[in-house]
Amino acid sequence: MRFIVLGSGSGGNATVVEAGGMRLLVDAGLSAKQLTDRMKASGIEPASISAVLLTHEHGDHVRGLRVLMKQLSAPIYATPSTTRLIRDGGIEAGSWKIFESGAQFHFNGLSVQSFAVPHDAVEPVGFVFRHEEKSFGLLSDTGHVTKLISERLRGVNALFVEANYDDALLEADTKRPWSTKQRISSRHGHLSNAQTAALVADLAANGLRRVVLGHLSRDCNCPVAAATAVRGSLASVEIVCAEQDRTCGWWD
Ligand SMILES: [Zn+2]
Ligand SMILES: [Zn+2]
Repeated sequence: MRFIVLGSGSGGNATVVEAGGMRLLVDAGLSAKQLTDRMKASGIEPASISAVLLTHEHGDHVRGLRVLMKQLSAPIYATPSTTRLIRDGGIEAGSWKIFESGAQFHFNGLSVQSFAVPHDAVEPVGFVFRHEEKSFGLLSDTGHVTKLISERLRGVNALFVEANYDDALLEADTKRPWSTKQRISSRHGHLSNAQTAALVADLAANGLRRVVLGHLSRDCNCPVAAATAVRGSLASVEIVCAEQDRTCGWWD
């Protein structure tokens, strides 16, 4: 199994997961042009995408979807409320595969376990991908780490997880009104470096070896702060930060 983060941040998010001859695109939050350019530069022919999976309906996760779907014949997998909102928003696709939050589904030997996450969207989810003995967890926008999230991610070998903000930088930020800061740090907002660090430390004790940190706020975080906070004393875990403007390269 391998994966590549095509880009991550408040300007757009997308990741490709590949195993068992299947290629899944998770979210399509970059422009369709950026998505296809970055896929091609990474050796992925867009038409070879087997399915598109959506975590939630926010623009930074679906922005390129409508135009991209003109080039793909792949089905879109999303939860019922997410599907309804996106369709109401004018995005149509050839085929929708609606799954209940928490459902598991399969693409040949590649299994996908969805799980509910707390975030200010209608029905947001995260995913765990499993193929043979390997597993990869994907946890994007999430306000706090629930017991369910910890349980679902326990035992994954690799993880994409958001590290959205540094507490001190968010507090010191002068661009955002107080209400926005409250939303970001609320239990249905985004994960701070400290929250992500606690989750990674917990998972590292259960086999986690590789972590890509994503969705870093441009103003209220920086790669050094995020990686330093999460690395802590975890010598056994390889940690990198995904970027908004380029891919993170393939990770096995
Ligand atoms: Zn979101
Ligand atoms: Zn987002």
